[in-house]
Amino acid sequence: MTEQLVDSYDAVGFDLDGVVYRGPYAVPGAPQVLAELRRQAIKVGFVTNNAQRPPQTVADHLESLGIACRVEDVVTSAQATARLMADQLPAQAEVLIVGSPALADEIALVGLRPAFQRSPQTAAIVIGYDPEQRWANFNEAAYAVQAGARYFACNNDQTRPTEFGVAVGMGGMLAAMTRALPGLEPTMGGKPARALLDQTALRFDAQRMVFVGDRLDTDVEGAVRAEMDSLFVFSGSHGKADLAQAGPLWRPTWIGADLAALLAPPRRVRLESDQALCGAARARLTPSGLALESVPADREGQLDALWAVLQLLWVEADAGRPRPVAAVLDRLDLVP
Ligand SMILES: [Mg+2]
Repeated sequence: MTEQLVDSYDAVGFDLDGVVYRGPYAVPGAPQVLAELRRQAIKVGFVTNNAQRPPQTVADHLESLGIACRVEDVVTSAQATARLMADQLPAQAEVLIVGSPALADEIALVGLRPAFQRSPQTAAIVIGYDPEQRWANFNEAAYAVQAGARYFACNNDQTRPTEFGVAVGMGGMLAAMTRALPGLEPTMGGKPARALLDQTALRFDAQRMVFVGDRLDTDVEGAVRAEMDSLFVFSGSHGKADLAQAGPLWRPTWIGADLAALLAPPRRVRLESDQALCGAARARLTPSGLALESVPADREGQLDALWAVLQLLWVEADAGRPRPVAAVLDRLDLVP
């Protein structure tokens, strides 16, 4: 049997938007790939930084796209943050919720006491994405923190993709808090903090998990921080130019066009002194930069070429020798 990338793992964690679905539609082939992973008895978990939607809503959404999903297959940043808070606060501590009812439910499930009003007993505050929140609620959170309450947040995503364009993410509201109270940083449960992926691995009793994502600043960094391998896919937010800029925290273990790469042979690079080989592609250092021997005509070949280019580029960047690559990346026109 042909070797598959996933053969080295017993569990796969998936980011959702840009990986499993894009807005209202499944990424083409995603339901089939997920069904095949389960047929091979590989554990599958769906991981979301969105703290607004309850796990059951996420599971129902996936089911509506033709992807089998039980509620326990979903791990949210609200769950991860609640678990983190339970580990750091006394049992039954009162927590001021600046977020959705789903977040309050998770806080109650871990044995803390959710409240929607600040009180002298407020031991901590937690902020989670919820577009219904009023400005006054952030003021209440700020007062509580100044009075000594611990400060937690579910995620720091700067933006949220929508059908109309980019929307203001959770990170914007956290930035407003930091502007008001300089030096104040929340303890974070969601990606890129490691709690969410750590808890995913724990939930699925995974010995070796690979995490699949479309963003370098949340998905790949989250995996790196959780000391987990990652597969970066091109079906969502980031692309080749972002990879070319990536420092060590943003470099995935693998790249693939989409999640079907899990079932394909792993893309391996052979690095030699001044060149990198991947599949039939060869990238080499030149006196002024970096060049490709030839440009493959198909997308998988171009991904091989990109992977070879990136490995050389990253070695050079880490050695303090940045190389211009924009012209080389432009030639790989089948890769976003
Ligand atoms: Mg995503």
